[in-house]
Formats: sequence, structure tokens, C-alpha cells
Amino acid sequence: ADITGRYDILGRIGSGAYADVYRGRRRSDGLDVALKEIHDYQSSAREIEALLALRGAPNVVDLLEYCWAEDEDEDAVLVLEFLPADLAAVIRDAKKAGAIAVGEVKQWMIQILRGLEACHRSSVVHRDLKPSNLLISADGILKLADFGQNGTCWTVGLEQQTVQELMPQHQNFRETRFANEDDTLRELDSPRAKNAMYDTDNEMSLQDCDASCLATCGTGDVEDDPLKGSYSYKAEEGGADEYGALTSCVGTRWFRAPELLYGSTDYGQEIDLWSLGCLFAELLNLEPLFPGTSDIDQLGRIISVLGNLTEEAWPGCSNLPDYSKIFFNKIENPIGLEACLPNRSASEVNLVKRLLCYNPANRATATETLHDRYFAEEPLPVPVNSLRVPS
Ligand code: ADP
Repeated sequence: ADITGRYDILGRIGSGAYADVYRGRRRSDGLDVALKEIHDYQSSAREIEALLALRGAPNVVDLLEYCWAEDEDEDAVLVLEFLPADLAAVIRDAKKAGAIAVGEVKQWMIQILRGLEACHRSSVVHRDLKPSNLLISADGILKLADFGQNGTCWTVGLEQQTVQELMPQHQNFRETRFANEDDTLRELDSPRAKNAMYDTDNEMSLQDCDASCLATCGTGDVEDDPLKGSYSYKAEEGGADEYGALTSCVGTRWFRAPELLYGSTDYGQEIDLWSLGCLFAELLNLEPLFPGTSDIDQLGRIISVLGNLTEEAWPGCSNLPDYSKIFFNKIENPIGLEACLPNRSASEVNLVKRLLCYNPANRATATETLHDRYFAEEPLPVPVNSLRVPS
């Protein structure tokens, strides 16, 4: 039968550039679910492919079933377990309280790292790690979500598998199709995301990106200026801007690794560890570490802290596609990560430093990070069930 016939739709809970997410309840047993309707073929295929490859991983959102719409706009609907909170809300709540307890930060980090470890083991690069994509269950289990931007990691040498190729391994997995246009989801009159045309395989080149970022994305960022004390994480929308130019500003800039900002197209899973470094610093400070307002500003903020990106810091960096296109004056006295993490312990600062390295090869992997002494030191990580989950 029709997939949507098996669920009651209770209302919309979110919408992004390419997707609308609805809360639903499975009719057979009352299970809470999220129905994610994705309006872009490539994003749908990527997300389904990644979630199939990661099925059973404890810190990745569970995909219960999915279907493709039969009409030509190629929407897909993913039925996901419903997760009521996210790490962005944890940070917001903690701001009111003053801080997140060290043992809690450790437990959130361990869960993120286990999710990342599972991704990287399956050659999935998340590419858009940020607090609002880390969803949390009522009992404190954190799960990576939103794999619409993910890419397969070529550097680990596995062949990319298509959804079709993966399907036979998941015999029990139900693929259904919409019977007709009057399905429940459509009745909810979802405003379509912008007519999205994008190509994340050609990851943003700064040149393409900047004019449009300044022209279009830029305004969004100013509204969200963290210095004003409130902000939200907004992924930039790729797609045709008002001038009709094709942009590929996809993902969230504040967590974007320097190699991506310099136009790299042969990056690997290390980009997720850069994002994790930014996220860890944010859990400690309760403020974003590098809240750039444009791609150039993003690089400028990184450079002001870490110093100029030079061959010394990362041999080979001058071959990055946009390296010679962007010039920064010599920073005589970089601020340094210590100064960005006032009153934090040596092992906290040390871990941020292991993640925020210019040279991706020097960044700690997810597995290495899990074995960092930070997690073995007092105060120890609190048990998952004693984490405070935002209501
Ligand atoms: P997008 O690709 O558009 O960013 P997301 O997967 O991030 O889509 O979903 C958008 C929003 O929908 C999320 O920020 C979250 O609030 C909500 N959401 C997504 N998946 C779930 C889920 N499994 N449970 C509860 N809420 C969800």
C-alpha cells in the first residue's frame, strides 16, 4: 500500500533548502516518526544511500522506510525515527544556565564521534556537520542526521555504490511508490523549496561562490549575526540566484574546512573533523568559533587565529584550486586557539588543536579522537541517561 497511508501526519516540523519535514505517527503501533520529503533527486539519492549504508549504527538516525514519488519532479519521502531535540537546543539552553558541564560535553562528543566513526568506516563523508544536524532522543541518544550533502569518500579506496547496488543487500527494506497525487503529504500544501539546481560534486569554488554569497547569502548571515546574541544555523541554499548564476554554496560556512574554502575537490573525511573541532569549541564556549559572514571572511577569521596558510603549515596547499586567487596579508601575531578558549583545560585546548589543523593529514581521525586522553580524565563522561535533553 501507499507509504503515507501507514502514517498520520501531525504537522510540519522543519523545512530546508531541499526538504520539508513532517511529524507523523505510524498507524499500526503509534510510533513517532519524521517524514522527510526531499525535492531534489541528487539529495534524496545521497541521503538514502548513506542511511542504508549506515543502518544499525547507534549514533546515526534510523531510516525506517522510504519511497520515490512517481511524478517527474522525483521527490522522495524518507520515514525516519522521530528525534525531538538537537544539539543547537542544548547550546541554547546551556547559554541560559551558563555552561554545559564538562562530563556532559564529553558524552555529547563521544556520541558524535561514534556516529562519525561509523560514517567514515562506511566511506560516507557527512560534509555538513553542525549542531542542528545532531538530533537527540528523549533519553539523550545523539544521532547524526541530514545526509543530503554527504559524499562518498574516495580517499579510502572504496568504490561508490549506488542506491540500486545497495538495495539487494537490504531485501527486507520496503520501497514503495506513491499511488497517486492525492497522498497525505501533498495535502499539507508544502511550499516548495526554491527551484533547486545545484551540483555539489563540483564543490563550491570561491570564485563562483563569492559574488553570489555577497549578493544573496550574505544578507541571511547578517541577520544571524552571533554578535547580536541570537543566531540560527542556516545552510546556504545552493541554486540559481537572482542573476541566474549557478552557485554551489552548499553546507554551512562556519563549520567548513579550509581546503573547501580554497576550492578543493579531492577532499576527504577530514573535512568532518574540522567541523567537529569547530563544534567542540562551540560546546565549550557556547558561541560559534568562526562565524564568517562570507567565504572570504570565513578564511580571514581562521587565518587570524591559526596564522596564514603556508607550505610550511601544509605542504602542497599552494596547489589548492583557489590558493593563488585569495591573498591575505601576513598575520604577524596569530591569536592562537588557546586565546579562543579562555579558562579551558589543557586537554580541551589540545583536542581542539588536534582537530583544527590546516593539513588534513594531521587532523586526528574519529577513532583517534575517541582515544584522546581528554575522555579518560576526570570529570568522566556522564552516562547518556543523565544528559539534560531540551524539552
Ligand atoms: P535539510 O536537509 O533541509 O536541512 P534536515 O534533515 O536537517 O533537512 O531537517 C530539517 C529539520 O527537520 C531539522 O532541523 C529538524 O528540526 C527536523 N528534523 C529532521 N529530521 C528529523 C527527525 N528524524 N526527527 C525530528 N525532527 C527532524
